[in-house]
Amino acid sequence: MQTEILSYREEKPNLEIKTVEKVAEARLPTEFGDFQIAGYRSLTSDEEFIALFKGEFDEKMPVPVRIHSQCLTGDVFHSLKCDCGKQLRWAMERIANEGHGIIVYQYQEGRGIGIINKIRAYALQDKGADTVEANLMLGFDVDLRKYDQCVEIIKDLGAKRVKVMSNNPQKIKAMIEGGLEIVERIPIEFKPSKDSVNYLKVKKLQMGHLLNLVG
Ligand SMILES: [Zn+2]
Repeated sequence: MQTEILSYREEKPNLEIKTVEKVAEARLPTEFGDFQIAGYRSLTSDEEFIALFKGEFDEKMPVPVRIHSQCLTGDVFHSLKCDCGKQLRWAMERIANEGHGIIVYQYQEGRGIGIINKIRAYALQDKGADTVEANLMLGFDVDLRKYDQCVEIIKDLGAKRVKVMSNNPQKIKAMIEGGLEIVERIPIEFKPSKDSVNYLKVKKLQMGHLLNLVG
């Protein structure tokens, strides 16, 4: 019996195991035009994801895509401490203009530490710590995010060749490792505000983000 099981496994070495599933999809009219919204669930954890997309996708056509990590303060409250909200709206506008594209929205607030801990980190930043130091002082790694399931969602929607809207090399790496072909990187950068300039400097110098507008 043992041998039979082993040989069965060997016959299907390239079987790609699905770790997310789409559970619902609907139309979502927005300020930037009509989108489709889909809810995905992880099959390996209790994580949920949203895909906001427009158009249809195939293996040939390059598609603008963004993996956006939730930032409640930036996305909802228009915080000036970071540029997340602006990036999200910019990406939606770009997709609306191009007529097709995908945003995968992942709930990994504060680089994975959660909103309450992010506010704790902001309190430490008010006393002079930078964004990396604050995470470390709270006992977290600098960045806890993982993107492999986001990449799986992009593939599940049918896209293969992508134009990545991101400055984050970790997201780009995850897409390549996940089997997407990157045909272009679309920088998504704004002039820093006085409240975001130090944060963006740390992202550039300590986390390797591809930013040109900060020194
Ligand atoms: Zn943010």
